[in-house]
Amino acid sequence: MEKKQELYAGKAKSVFATDNEDFVILSFRDDTSAFDGERIEQLSRKGEVNNKFNAFIMEYLAKAGIPTHFEKLLNGTESLVKNMNMIPVECVVRNVASGSLVRRLGVEDGMELSPPIFEFFLKNDALHDPMVNEFHIETFGWASADSVIKMKELTFKVNAELKKLFADAGLILVDYKLEFGLFKGDVILGDEFSPDGCRLWDAETREKLDKDRFRQGLGGVIEAYEEVARRIGVPL
Ligand code: 5GP
Repeated sequence: MEKKQELYAGKAKSVFATDNEDFVILSFRDDTSAFDGERIEQLSRKGEVNNKFNAFIMEYLAKAGIPTHFEKLLNGTESLVKNMNMIPVECVVRNVASGSLVRRLGVEDGMELSPPIFEFFLKNDALHDPMVNEFHIETFGWASADSVIKMKELTFKVNAELKKLFADAGLILVDYKLEFGLFKGDVILGDEFSPDGCRLWDAETREKLDKDRFRQGLGGVIEAYEEVARRIGVPL
């Protein structure tokens, strides 16, 4: 498939057209952003690590029956994916309290959440991704009521699969963010799953092995991503 013009440049990935309108190329860059794009730095190897990490997870989820946009790895930093209409909301599931939940509600960081908590956020950097609910999504036409139900169902299915995958590798899946889109009328998983969009802690030491290392200036960001990849068996 031939790579054509750039359609969109996000904070960490770019999207390119192909000669087939059903497919686009996701290009993972080394750019790393935090605080709604207020801080951006280049982290060497990140594009490649996240591209391969995401490919592994998307293929793992597809085998578990979760529909995704992922088609195939093209090279170190690029993957071929289905060309979806993205739904502009982020779906977050939390198994352990951390991050914005702790700041918002004053609960203890590290508290186990049973049952897990589901939250929707609007994708809008200028508004700092505000939390929204089903009513906002339907009334403002960001997605249909059916799509909302499907996103929730798939996000929890992903939780069951990935909690186990990471637990078997000695890791706690604290929380994560997913994005969905519509492809030929079906809701399917899009964007990426990588340590950029989830929290992963070592089960023994509770060491952070995700993007919080960047957000909190802890260093060793890519080394931590590579450690997670090695533990779950991502070929890097
Ligand atoms: P929080 O709401 O605590 O900031 O984030 C919850 C989870 O979703 C974390 O794993 C965080 O990495 C992920 N997340 C939320 N919003 C974004 C975002 O805009 N970009 C990325 N990469 N991850 C996000």
